Amino acid sequence: QSMFAAVQLAPRDPILGLTEAFNADTRTNKVNLGVGVYYDDNGKLPLLAAVREAEKTRLEAAPARGYLPIEGFGAYNQAVQQLLFGKDSPLLAAGRVATFEALGGTGGLKIGADFLKRLAPNAEVWISDPSWENHRALFEGAGFKVNAYPYYDSASHGVNFAGMLAALNAMPSGSIAVLHACCHNPTGVDLSVEQWKQVVQAVRSRGLVAFLDMAYQGFGDGIEEDAAALRLFADSGLPFFVSSSFSKSFSLYGERVGALSIVTLDRDETTRVISQVKRVIRTNYSNPPTHGAAIVAAVLSTPELRKLWEQELAGMRERIRQMRVQLVEKLKARGVKQDFSFVTTQRGMFSYSGLTSAQVDRLREEFGIYAIATGRICLAALNSRNIDPVADAIAKVVA
Ligand code: PLP
Repeated sequence: QSMFAAVQLAPRDPILGLTEAFNADTRTNKVNLGVGVYYDDNGKLPLLAAVREAEKTRLEAAPARGYLPIEGFGAYNQAVQQLLFGKDSPLLAAGRVATFEALGGTGGLKIGADFLKRLAPNAEVWISDPSWENHRALFEGAGFKVNAYPYYDSASHGVNFAGMLAALNAMPSGSIAVLHACCHNPTGVDLSVEQWKQVVQAVRSRGLVAFLDMAYQGFGDGIEEDAAALRLFADSGLPFFVSSSFSKSFSLYGERVGALSIVTLDRDETTRVISQVKRVIRTNYSNPPTHGAAIVAAVLSTPELRKLWEQELAGMRERIRQMRVQLVEKLKARGVKQDFSFVTTQRGMFSYSGLTSAQVDRLREEFGIYAIATGRICLAALNSRNIDPVADAIAKVVA
């Protein structure tokens, strides 16, 4: 009898399954709107010029590949802090932030979750309904019971803020609230600054632990603008957690460049927290990889490269915005009665388009256009060549 005889086949990842079906589709005009990455107007994953420049310099310097410290590359961690909290943040001056290079935003969430489990073994985690599909599994994997708070309101294509706030105000003290800092995945629907102020207030009055997930800084309204929620938490004086990622903003998906930042109440706490999170990292993967962090640190700390990156990031953000505007206009021009204008107020790569799963099925079967059954589409998968056929097809399935 094999030791694996009782191992059951795990369910397929629904999004990867969609990609497999897309790849197997022989239609030449097929379009995959189910992806979670940014494609340029040629439908290609970009390699940013700022990254290419930094890589050239690094290749020429031919650095040896020693181990990094457990917490990662110092210059990188410092650059992450400045991007998240602002260069002149009093939190940084006061030594209140511990930052660890992590294996993508996912890695930041995971080491944060493992540390929290040691810190608060009985706390429960709350994620938005709906949320990035890995949030639940990741926190469950770290040993937490995971609940959901109301978030998306399908009737208004907006946030059910009253429901969200009521849920926050009813959570047991010490509960961990996972919050999308900007560009909510999968809905594209974000809170206003006023609403964030109320969230901070609820976190304070209920004694909750906020865990902000910042995977899309710069994809919404701008690098600084997208940090607004995080800055409100920073100003609050509360401790909190932030996972962040350069997968999207640097188009460095496979290099796994992210971070975990933990805001404490003072420098002494920071020192003790660092010592404990280092144990979590040491027993997981020992220390993080060098290349991606070195590239990001070089770009962020070299003025010309930083400027180039900011321009390229603005270009990605602007192209997505254009696709949102054009899709809505093109649907209108095709006589679609249904109001899709909410698509232009959503932020980031994704939209809960309001398409039903039956309509998504028709898009795929009749037109070779692939989307998630929930109606989530990736606006960054649209481009000047495919947007007309996509608008044609959507106009037909919603008619
Ligand atoms: N958090 C959210 C909300 C995401 O959408 C993603 C990626 O899609 C991540 C975290 C993970 O990012 P990374 O690829 O850097 O691990």
